[in-house]
Amino acid sequence: MTGEIISVGTELLLGQIVNTDAAYAARGLADLGISVYYQVVVGDNRERLSTALEAAFSRSDLVILTGGLGPTGDDLTKEVTAEYFGLPLAEDPAIAGAIAARLARAGILCTAESAKQAMVPQGARVFPNQNGTAPGLAIRQDGRTAILLPGPPREMEPMFSSQIVPYLRSELDGTIRSHCIRLFGIGEAQLEQDLPAALFAASNPTLAPYAKNGEVELRVTARGQSPEQCEEAMRPVIGTIYEILGAYVYGVDVPNLQTVLVHELEERSMTIATAESLTGGLVSERITQVPGASAVFALGVCTYSDSMKAKVLGVAPTTLDAFGAVSRQTAGEMAHHVRELAGADIGVSTTGFAGPAGGTPEAPVGTVFVGIAGLGQTRIIRLGFDIRDVDARSQIRHLTALNVMAAVLRLLKKGDKA
Ligand code: ATP
Repeated sequence: MTGEIISVGTELLLGQIVNTDAAYAARGLADLGISVYYQVVVGDNRERLSTALEAAFSRSDLVILTGGLGPTGDDLTKEVTAEYFGLPLAEDPAIAGAIAARLARAGILCTAESAKQAMVPQGARVFPNQNGTAPGLAIRQDGRTAILLPGPPREMEPMFSSQIVPYLRSELDGTIRSHCIRLFGIGEAQLEQDLPAALFAASNPTLAPYAKNGEVELRVTARGQSPEQCEEAMRPVIGTIYEILGAYVYGVDVPNLQTVLVHELEERSMTIATAESLTGGLVSERITQVPGASAVFALGVCTYSDSMKAKVLGVAPTTLDAFGAVSRQTAGEMAHHVRELAGADIGVSTTGFAGPAGGTPEAPVGTVFVGIAGLGQTRIIRLGFDIRDVDARSQIRHLTALNVMAAVLRLLKKGDKA
């Protein structure tokens, strides 16, 4: 099945709002294994919307339209789509009742304009809107499906994930299964270069990479007659990914690094303590986000000043004097001492220059030292970030926190093999 997205709204054309609805829908369709070759933005104009719809159905089986479902005169999506399919509009009493009740709760009078939202193309499937008035609609005719969704993301997104995805799943032939492989330490470009191009070109199973916040996700999606058939089709693809990129994979169908880290520590009945300077508590924050973290997280200290590094953590003043706070030696002592202080199995530390000011010729802004004490030794990892964006500081801190968690995970797994 091929899909297309038409986003309706003059505000989108003028650049006054960002088209997050299209991104959300595109991702949802990709997850369902539906290929999307076109996304179109069109203003609130009857002729141009009609032309866009004609063009979309000339090349796609499924068209998702967002926006223009409201009560005002320039909201044309429903009328134009009904006209395209040759369907009359009739009032849906259930929607009319729901809209009237919603408006009454808000103390707003029901007008002819709001009643317009209860008009539905004959035979359309209606998706109630839990967060607004305009319902979603699906129209099917001769192998063509149009899905109309309200524009506001807080209405569109929950409707898409809780109602449209199940609807599309039930409409597609057979069944769909997917797995999400999460990687850290490799960029999207490198990943695409390392994996065989044929994997990305295949239509079943499909393979879609997503890069986000320093990590990469690879989503494998298969369509088949049964869940077993889908799993069978995905097995060799996942096998190839592990064979080539196994060193970067930290989990399959897992939500994030911190969840995997807490789980792996729990499995080994191990505890961790953190001594954070550069990350200011980010690593502790991530770990304690995970339910059950209390079993593995012993202590988190944020020692930003040199004096506190010495006083709380026991970093030797001579170390700070001779090598500075941003050094291998300080990172090592911070990790070692916080581990001792907490009586934990593992102590981790971060120290570095997050910028924009600071740094030295030997250790410019973006230089970070991560210490990991425990598992038989103290390791120091030097990271170097060359980030020039306006939010470089927060990116450096965020990426450092991810690196700390990924490094501990790698060491735990290495320890298993030893
Ligand atoms: P309503 O039922 O609230 O009138 P609607 O379906 O008519 O919604 P529009 O009037 O087209 O939607 O847009 C309403 C608001 O929704 C816009 O002002 C904008 O804030 C947001 N919106 C619309 N389309 C998009 C989009 N494609 N991406 C992100 N936000 C959008």
